Amino acid sequence: MHLKTLTLRGFKSFASATTLSFEPGITCVVGPNGSGKSNVVDALAWVMGEQGAKSLRGGKMEDVIFAGTSGRPPLGRAEVSLTIDNTDGALPIEYSEVTISRTLFRNGGSEYAINGQGCRLLDIQDLLSDSGLGREMHVIVGQGQLDAVLRATPEERRGFVEEAAGVLKHRKRKEKALRK
Ligand code: ATP
Ligand code: MG
Repeated sequence: MHLKTLTLRGFKSFASATTLSFEPGITCVVGPNGSGKSNVVDALAWVMGEQGAKSLRGGKMEDVIFAGTSGRPPLGRAEVSLTIDNTDGALPIEYSEVTISRTLFRNGGSEYAINGQGCRLLDIQDLLSDSGLGREMHVIVGQGQLDAVLRATPEERRGFVEEAAGVLKHRKRKEKALRK
């Protein structure tokens, strides 16, 4: 499984539709300060279901919508699509290519789709969760996060490992069962 393309339209500083293509292997995004590198990473997290405005470096979710510049008026919606190569079947869906999309309107409405078919946010989170992608996983390591791991207590560090290994959800289930 690898990420093929990411398309941003009205997302943060990307007012015009912009598509980034990724080849298998390592991709580096370089550019001057403030040119939108971190916004690309925010778009990835967002389309995969991120719900915390703070994780997206904003105050409220609406902040992901292009807010306008001196020469360009604000837009009414932000749209991001991510196409994933699924020829190895890592995602539990019968398509060799999967496109997930998310749209947010300034009036607060949201739309989600898998391969163009409207769906719920939960469907996207479910699709990604067992593949190691998705919101709960440490797939995206933000600035300062490495520092947090290094400073963590042994218990917290164990939590990181358990989450990465996928045992955390089973442990939570076990604790819940024992409490009954
Ligand atoms: P650095 O190298 O400093 O980390 P960067 O390339 O990661 O920079 P970003 O943080 O991705 O830069 O981009 C910041 C820019 O995005 C700022 O100029 C900010 O004004 C712009 N921006 C963020 N949100 C919006 C928005 N909703 N509408 C328009 N522009 C936005
Ligand atoms: Mg940055």
